[in-house]
Formats: sequence, C-alpha cells, structure tokens
Amino acid sequence: MPTGRLYGIGLGPGDPELVTIKAARLIGAAEVIAYHSARHGRSIARQVAAPYLRDDQIEEALVYPVTTEKTDHPGGYQGAIDEFYQKSAMRLAAHLDAGRDVALLCEGDPFFYGSYLHMHKRLADRYPTEIVPGVTSVSAAAAQVGQPLAERDEVFTVLPGTLPPAELARRLAETDTAAVMKLGRSFESVRSAFAEAGKLDEAWYVERATTSRQRVAPLSTVDAADVPYFSVALLPSSRRSDRPGCGVTVVGLGPAGRPWLTPEAATAIAEADDLVGYRTYLKRLPDSPRQRKHPSPNRVEAERAALALRLAQEGRRVAVVSSGDPGVFAMATAVLEVACQPEYVDVPVTVLPGVTAAQAVASRIGAPLGHDYCVISLSDRLKPWSAIERRLAAAAEADLVIAIYNPASHTRRHQLVDARDLLLKHRDPDTPVVIGRDAGGPAESVRAVRLEDLDPSEVDMRTLLIVGSSQTRMAERDGRQIVFTPRRYPE
Ligand code: SAH
Repeated sequence: MPTGRLYGIGLGPGDPELVTIKAARLIGAAEVIAYHSARHGRSIARQVAAPYLRDDQIEEALVYPVTTEKTDHPGGYQGAIDEFYQKSAMRLAAHLDAGRDVALLCEGDPFFYGSYLHMHKRLADRYPTEIVPGVTSVSAAAAQVGQPLAERDEVFTVLPGTLPPAELARRLAETDTAAVMKLGRSFESVRSAFAEAGKLDEAWYVERATTSRQRVAPLSTVDAADVPYFSVALLPSSRRSDRPGCGVTVVGLGPAGRPWLTPEAATAIAEADDLVGYRTYLKRLPDSPRQRKHPSPNRVEAERAALALRLAQEGRRVAVVSSGDPGVFAMATAVLEVACQPEYVDVPVTVLPGVTAAQAVASRIGAPLGHDYCVISLSDRLKPWSAIERRLAAAAEADLVIAIYNPASHTRRHQLVDARDLLLKHRDPDTPVVIGRDAGGPAESVRAVRLEDLDPSEVDMRTLLIVGSSQTRMAERDGRQIVFTPRRYPE
C-alpha cells in the first residue's frame, strides 16, 4: 500500500484571508491535521486554519513539553525537546505508513524559520513531501508599517534576534534594510544593537501582524517586558525612498546657453517639481506647467537654500540652479551649509557639476589656464578686502595664473582698481589679461589686453578676468588673438 503524503503547509502571518488557496484546499483535503502547540494547548496555527478544517479530520496536537521553564529531563532542555520531536515524528509516521495524508500546519512560511522543519528533517527522506509556501511575518509586518522592505539595489538582511548583540549591530550597520526575528527574550539586546548601529530611530516593532491582537510601534518606544515571541523588528526602506528622487539637486547651468548645459544637469532640471534660484538664472529655463519656479533676488542664498530643503522635506524633487558650476562661488555650499542644520539631516542633497565661467572664457581665447592657476572672487561681500589683497599678492608672488570672478559691480568699483595696482607690483606691465564678458551669451566679447592697459570701467558683473603668469603668451593666429600658458615652466 502506498504511504500518505506529508504536507508542510504555510499559513501566513495570522489573517485567515492570507492563507493561500492551495493551503486552504490541502487543509480541507488531508485526513490528518497536525500542529505544534504550547502546553496551554492553544495553537495559533490551528486557529488560522480553522475556517478550512472539516469536522471528521484526525487532529494531532504536538504539544511542546517545555518552552522556557525548567525541566527534569536528564538531557536538560535540549534532551526534552529532542525526545519530543522524535516522538512527534513517530506519531506522524504512523499515519503516513497507513496511507493517510498529513497536513502539518505552520505559521508564516514553513521553510522560513518554521517549526515544521523539525518534522521535515525526520520524515522527508522517507515519505513523499510537499511544501506549500506562505506569506511570512516579515512581509506582513512591512505591509502593516506601510514602508517597503527593499527597493532598487537595496540589500535586505534577515537576522535572528538571538545573535550576539555585537554581531547584530555590525550587520545592521552594514545593511540597507533588515528584519530581526525571534524577539521575545532577546528584545533588549536587539534594541541596543539597533542603537549601536545608529538605526534605532528608523526601526519599527510589529507584534502579531495581521491578527486582531496586532501592535505596531516605533521600536524605541516598546516596553521590553511586553514583547512576545511573535514579533519582529523592522528596518524598512527609509524616507530616502518615500518618493524616488525626492531631495535637493544643486545644478550648474553652465555660463550660458543650452550647449554648455550638461545632459545630466538637463535631466535633473526636467525631472524636478520645483526650481529654486536667483531670478536671472531661472529666467534662462523654459516655463513648464508641471513645474513651480521659486525665483529670489540676489544675495539671499541661505533663505533660498532653506526653501529648497523644506520643499524636499515635503517630498518634492527640487533643483537649485546656479550659473556655471554650482561649487564655484555659488549655491552648492550655501545649500550644504544649511543642510547641515539638524532639521534637514534627512534631506538628500546632490551636486551636479557645470562648466564654470573660467573654463568657458579660457576656451574662447585659447588656453590661458593650461598651467597652474587659481580662482579668486573679488567680491568683499562675504570676506574682508584685506583677505582678498593678501591672496592676490600671494598668488601673484607664486606666479599663478589668476581667474578673477566677480571683478566689479555697479556699487563695487574701487576693488578692481586696487587689485590691478597690487598685481602690477608683482607682474610685468605686459602681462596678458583676458577680459571675458558674457561668454556663450548674446553679448559675448572675449579679448586680451596688457595688465597696465586694463581699464576697470570696462568691467562689470558679467565679466571674468584671467590674469596671466610670467609665462602666459599673447599671439595672433589667422587674424585672431590667442592667449595660452605653456605647460613647461622654466627652471
Ligand atoms: N558659479 C559660477 C560663478 C558665479 S560668480 C561659475 O561657475 O561660473 C559670478 C561671476 O562669474 C560673474 O561675476 C563673472 O565673473 C563670472 N561669470 C559667470 N558667467 C559668465 C559668463 N558667461 N561670462 C563671463 N563671466 C561669467
């Protein structure tokens, strides 16, 4: 006579509606229903399966002799448990030998830390066996917390809470998301491992997920004394991914025009919900009915940065625009400075590079930046004039080529006069100076003069200067003025 079949039936986390159709069918069909239970006799598994049971089925309750209490078994706790599993296997084997199918019920998934595994090890090599997978408590808990377990290339780690705390902390620190099983008595060490890994604030506690006695709470708020075995700690995919791409991207528009906007920057702008920036720069971008523009006047960088970070906290994708490169006298630092305040620590900030004015101007006239050079802003709005003088003198002394940003404005007029006089103390009057205005724009003009002939009244806010070194050469090619700094420097 053929033997019966052993079914390891996953019942899911507790809600009878989360029992699979296949599990329900096999539970209804089996002649023997087996389940583990504690000594009080109530079996969670049987309760979940109850809607699918028939009255005439044989029930085999496999009652644990011990759980956490002391035992007088000569082999201690392990001895008592081993004997129990051996006897249970013999009881089920008797049914299988007699040709009866046995459905062994198991919470969650049988192959995922399932109590079923003890019987599987003792019977599966002797009887035809089939596993019916179930919804795990981890999936259920994530669904109840309402945050994804893992997305994109995130690494998800499953950990038993019974690991040594240092091991737990190490693994929690390394992973992106995690579930910690078997809390119960290990709860306190699990919680301290989360704290040590710096992830306690993001972690959730879920007890008896999807049952009528379910409890969901931030892990940090749970009283260790109330924690049952049927609970998990979750480190879900965090706010980072509440909405893909939300956060602040600081984008460099290049010095002028579409050709000098990188494809990466163009994509970031196209994907943004909100565009934040100095109004002159925002005007360079087309209006889209899908996007909000938040123009601001010049010189309010910190307020602009805070606005961008607040918008991102509301789940919006924000692009903060700068001209040129955002890291060169522009918004990248302003945003990062404000982003370091505690209230904005959760906001992702990305900086995308752009072509800076110095590169743009240099390219139009040759290669004046072809050797060592430095970059100095002549604006004394955010630093004292004495620091600017000191740096100009040091750069001139070091024979660096000097790219000068913000050389003058309507109100800042004396600075360039003073700077030229200071440079003339160190540099030959014949030193080439490139005057680049509106490079790439409609009013572009880029030409070179002798340092002595530099006329500050020709220079405005839209101008960048490149002061040559002792080696920088001016020449004519094809009727066109060129300036370059040789790569070789004399001994
Ligand atoms: N983040 C910008 C610089 C901002 S400071 C960048 O990387 O280019 C502003 C100064 O940049 C201006 O005063 C001027 O000196 C220079 N500048 C910006 N765009 C320019 C252009 N198209 N032509 C010449 N100079 C420019």
